[in-house]
Amino acid sequence: MQVYSDFLVRYNISVYIVSMIIKNTSPSSQKLRSIMQVVFLFLILFIGIQFIQYVAWLDSGGLGDAPRRPPGATGFLPIASIMSLSFLFQTGEVHSVHPAGLFLFIAFVIMSFIAGKSFCSWVCPFGLLSELLEKVHRRLFKRVLSLPRWLDYPLRSLKYLLLGFFLLAIIPMGAIELGHYLNSPYHAVADIKMYRFFAQITPFAAYVTLGLILFSLVIPYFWCRYLCPYGALMGFIGLFSPNKIKRNADSCIDCGKCTKVCPARILVDKVNTVRSDECTSCYQCVDTCPVKDTLEVTNFPTKRTIPTRLLGITIAATFVILVGIGYISGNWDSSLSAEKTLELYPGIDFYLHTGTY
Ligand code: SF4
Ligand code: SF4
Repeated sequence: MQVYSDFLVRYNISVYIVSMIIKNTSPSSQKLRSIMQVVFLFLILFIGIQFIQYVAWLDSGGLGDAPRRPPGATGFLPIASIMSLSFLFQTGEVHSVHPAGLFLFIAFVIMSFIAGKSFCSWVCPFGLLSELLEKVHRRLFKRVLSLPRWLDYPLRSLKYLLLGFFLLAIIPMGAIELGHYLNSPYHAVADIKMYRFFAQITPFAAYVTLGLILFSLVIPYFWCRYLCPYGALMGFIGLFSPNKIKRNADSCIDCGKCTKVCPARILVDKVNTVRSDECTSCYQCVDTCPVKDTLEVTNFPTKRTIPTRLLGITIAATFVILVGIGYISGNWDSSLSAEKTLELYPGIDFYLHTGTY
């Protein structure tokens, strides 16, 4: 308890100092968010180019020097990363086949704890795509269409059902079972399988993807709001974040601008504290509020207001720190050699979830 209160005092002072610096020097949180979204998009494009080169090398049967297998791609393997995290808890070991995925997953979990479901509106490329589709939607329809509440509520639970399905399969697994999966050829080439899913997309998968994009154009954030289990997990963790948006009912002039701008359709002007699992911490409501000190992010244990820019910088710093820890500790690149991957590659369509190589 003493340690916790010492931490809070120190945290309180540090937050105050950094808040003062940031208040006077950095860009607005929306600019910062756009910068981060674009940076992550370019990062993902860069990873995609590296993957194209790597798979071309595998397809050539290993002609010439092996290009680098981009470890960042494993950030798109959340199920494997959750299993890796469970393996880490149970054995104390970082599994060496796709360690980058684990560090990225931990970074995203920490971001969610610091700033709710911020992964969705600051980092995720699908979140960015949904946001762009929403902008097109607003231009096309001149207003935001949404499903009626009686349909919206049950549909929102779909993503939790999907998440529950995955977690119920993973949580009971012991270290041996986890090891069977993490050491399997299936897991060894899981990132390549995922790449091939998009690069050699089947007509069925293409129609489903196109359908989801169209749905997201007509009903903004359709995928994020109803179907994405990763977003569900981040939203659930975000519920425990000590940093929440607080409305000062005394100074609020009930203009409704915060609610109008909210992409998660949260009735911000009707609550005192935003506690929704749908809040993506985009902070558009905070930045839109015309009355000073009325809508702010508050750190509940310390009761201190936190500038949204500071939260944005913290989100970015969390990513950089966790990636740095992965690199420095030697847990970033896969332990699988290029030769071993080349050996496994011909069987890529036939591997089961367990088995050895
Ligand atoms: S409540 Fe505010 S921060 Fe949360 S999603 Fe809505 S606009 Fe963004
Ligand atoms: S934008 Fe600010 S002033 Fe307007 S309703 Fe929301 S909290 Fe109140």
